[in-house]
Amino acid sequence: MMRPKQIIVFFRILFIFIFFLSTSCVKRGKDTAPKTRAPVLLTKKQESRSPKKQPSQICVCIDAGHGGDDPGAKAITPPHTKEKTLTLVTALKVQEFLHTFGIKTVMVRRTDRFVPLKERAHIATKKRCTHFVSIHYNSTPKPTSAKGVEVYVYETDKSLERAAASKQLASAIVHRIAKVAPLRTPTIRHGNFCVIRETKMPAVLIEGGFLSNPKEAKNLKNPRYIRLLAWAIAKGIVDVCHSTAPRTVTGQ
Ligand SMILES: [Zn+2]
Repeated sequence: MMRPKQIIVFFRILFIFIFFLSTSCVKRGKDTAPKTRAPVLLTKKQESRSPKKQPSQICVCIDAGHGGDDPGAKAITPPHTKEKTLTLVTALKVQEFLHTFGIKTVMVRRTDRFVPLKERAHIATKKRCTHFVSIHYNSTPKPTSAKGVEVYVYETDKSLERAAASKQLASAIVHRIAKVAPLRTPTIRHGNFCVIRETKMPAVLIEGGFLSNPKEAKNLKNPRYIRLLAWAIAKGIVDVCHSTAPRTVTGQ
């Protein structure tokens, strides 16, 4: 039999033991919970908010310039590749790369046929595209030393938001192209072209180099060069889509 004093001492020891046990569990709980759960939850939350994980919201209209009865420019060097052929090859490559990034595309044309200019812009609006990219190649009437890529945007006071978004798209593409091809200065220019004027979403028109420059024309007939150019265009589009929420700007 325990005496009352012994009972009191026993319960004191028991109480102290339980107290230490409980505080150590709480501490352990506090230490482990944030390390294992909170950062994971935060990352998922951030990812779900970020357009990076929502490529399905982005739809890029790719416009291969010219086509059919409209050949566009012609390379100055044999085999005198037509602009309409080069634009289609480039556009199809851009589409291929965008698909690898999980981005939807709408092609204005996939074959050698002419699509009226206003119809090209209309296709992008009808298909609810979020971005519009028109691909062309440059030329001058006589052989020239002018070379490099230019990117045109349509600037108007009537739609400052769209003009700003178009410039942002142009900058992202130029940033990538600079790594694979020469640029003409100034690279981003204002252009009153039907396809980028009549579209409702951020739109650019890329002149991918001069077919009237013998050296550049030689580069442009190289499939590897076109592939690099297409990759840079696609990567630029991906960059801008990741940095801004996709949207269609109306009210022009
Ligand atoms: Zn053209």
